Amino acid sequence: MKRQLAPGRLVLATHNPGKVVELGELLGPHGLDVVSAGALGLPEPEETGETFVANAELKARAAATASGLPALADDSGLCVDVLGGAPGIYSARWAGPEKDFAAAMRKVHAAMGTDGTRTAHFVCALSIAWPDGHCETVEGRVDGRLVWPPRGDNGFGYDPMFQMDGRGLTYGEMPRAAKEADNHRARAFVKLLPLLPPLTRRGDA
Ligand code: IMP
Repeated sequence: MKRQLAPGRLVLATHNPGKVVELGELLGPHGLDVVSAGALGLPEPEETGETFVANAELKARAAATASGLPALADDSGLCVDVLGGAPGIYSARWAGPEKDFAAAMRKVHAAMGTDGTRTAHFVCALSIAWPDGHCETVEGRVDGRLVWPPRGDNGFGYDPMFQMDGRGLTYGEMPRAAKEADNHRARAFVKLLPLLPPLTRRGDA
């Protein structure tokens, strides 16, 4: 059953500032009143799922239940072919508690060795949950390759070492708008929108 996202606020069930920015930009044109889980002081649930979809759903459900509002969660990561899909759902955890992504990129590069296969992809599962437990989930993916050394200071996470197929710049070098126009999160978002019509815009209610 399709659910209407209105009237009122949508919680962004993430504490990752990079994702808050990107999801906020995607949601902006739809006029939704967005508040982050961090701003509401919601606890960050443990990511116990074994897939991107399972983790996105558990984060969205936890935020919807705790806030009493619809909540959108993202679970995403970098999957490296020569590493059998690692770091995958553990992408954030490879950066350690201090969230050191320069160290995480070095770790990925070292683990890849000299095999020569540099292919990788980003995956994003987006899940929207309502306080009654109803949930809709979609996935987006972007293929590319990993460069070394990392290039560019834009974006977050593994952006400086990921070059999307057909592009000469890494995500870290691309202007934010260009990265956000067609990345794994944007591709998932495009699939999510038809599941939510009609979105009531601010002022319509
Ligand atoms: P989680 O979904 O909170 O488990 O975290 C996913 C992790 O994957 C992030 O902390 C980033 O390290 C990485 N990641 C996800 N999306 C992107 C992206 O668009 N660029 C760079 N890194 C990303």
